[in-house]
Amino acid sequence: MTPAAAIVDCTEDWLEKRPGDNTRIEWLLVLARAHGMRADVLGYQEGCSEKTGSCRQCWAREEVYRRGLQQGEAMRRRFGGLTRKVGGRIQWTGEIRVLSERLAGAVRRKHPTFWFPASRSDVFHEKAEARTVAQLLAVAAARPDHRMILLTKRWERAADLLVSEELQDLVAEALAELAPGRPMPSGWPLANVIVGCSVGNQAEADAAGESMSRIATMQATSRIATMQATSRVARSGWATCASAEPMRGPIDFSGWEFLRFLIVGGMTGGIASEPLHPLWVEGALGWARVNGVPAFFKQWGDWAMQPETGTPVWLAADGRCFDDVSAAADSRRDGPAALCRLFRVGKVKAGRRLPDGRVVLQVPILGQVRHG
Ligand code: SF4
Repeated sequence: MTPAAAIVDCTEDWLEKRPGDNTRIEWLLVLARAHGMRADVLGYQEGCSEKTGSCRQCWAREEVYRRGLQQGEAMRRRFGGLTRKVGGRIQWTGEIRVLSERLAGAVRRKHPTFWFPASRSDVFHEKAEARTVAQLLAVAAARPDHRMILLTKRWERAADLLVSEELQDLVAEALAELAPGRPMPSGWPLANVIVGCSVGNQAEADAAGESMSRIATMQATSRIATMQATSRVARSGWATCASAEPMRGPIDFSGWEFLRFLIVGGMTGGIASEPLHPLWVEGALGWARVNGVPAFFKQWGDWAMQPETGTPVWLAADGRCFDDVSAAADSRRDGPAALCRLFRVGKVKAGRRLPDGRVVLQVPILGQVRHG
């Protein structure tokens, strides 16, 4: 698989959920369709705790809270006690819950599926044992026709686990339990898994970069990894991706040329949602284009330059946001495009079209694992 041949350019009708899909996550639907597969989340682990500043906008926390209040023993057993309400605000309790039987179900799934595991948790959460991570990877090892995409905000723990020599043995043990008789793939790392980090701004990207380059190059020591990651041919480790959704500031991805996929998008979710600057989007998508990395621009979020309706805000390219344009005067010194006037129009009206009219919905094609 060459990087150039691995990009599929999709159209907006690919964002529709089809029979057999069990999610509305658009990039997952498109990834699945590009591979001729179904799309589904794999809720084998529930519960989390905040790790980065971007966790303040965690949608999973509200969903887990709601589900924990629902009628029925099964829902309470699965979601109860993972969140609590303190002073009107929903918080994680920090407990995580593993439902291993769901992994066995994924192995038995008849149709090849593109999975997004632990969408309401973090695969690499501090409380998730290495054995549990290995059990998840054993699903991918058992089913070469499945694919999975992992997203984490615990990139350091992910790197430590994924480059460790012990992990392959743990996956082999888990595979023997989960799917007795199925051989371990002949290649390692698993070619049908893509490992990603969620980063919302430059500080988070800076914190994640070294760990992600270790994952992409399978180097235990970061110094070598950083050197090798500058070369495309050094992508000999896990396939990696980054999600800058929601993007909360400009991110320079220089040095991340090892990526196989980049997701970019704005913030949604009502009154507290932050606006997205067109220059940030242009910067990230431009970097991806130059480096042959498939990029998926999900949407602008709740804010847009058009239609002009309601009270605007002015967003500077450095991330400062103003209610009053006169207070933003110094931002214009960085050029006419640096200060952007935005209106809260809602995500449907804001859409995903770039200022030049393009829609960017690219995804990568991942390889299969090989046995024997
Ligand atoms: S890591 Fe993800 S699931 Fe966990 S608190 Fe942060 S945003 Fe929520």
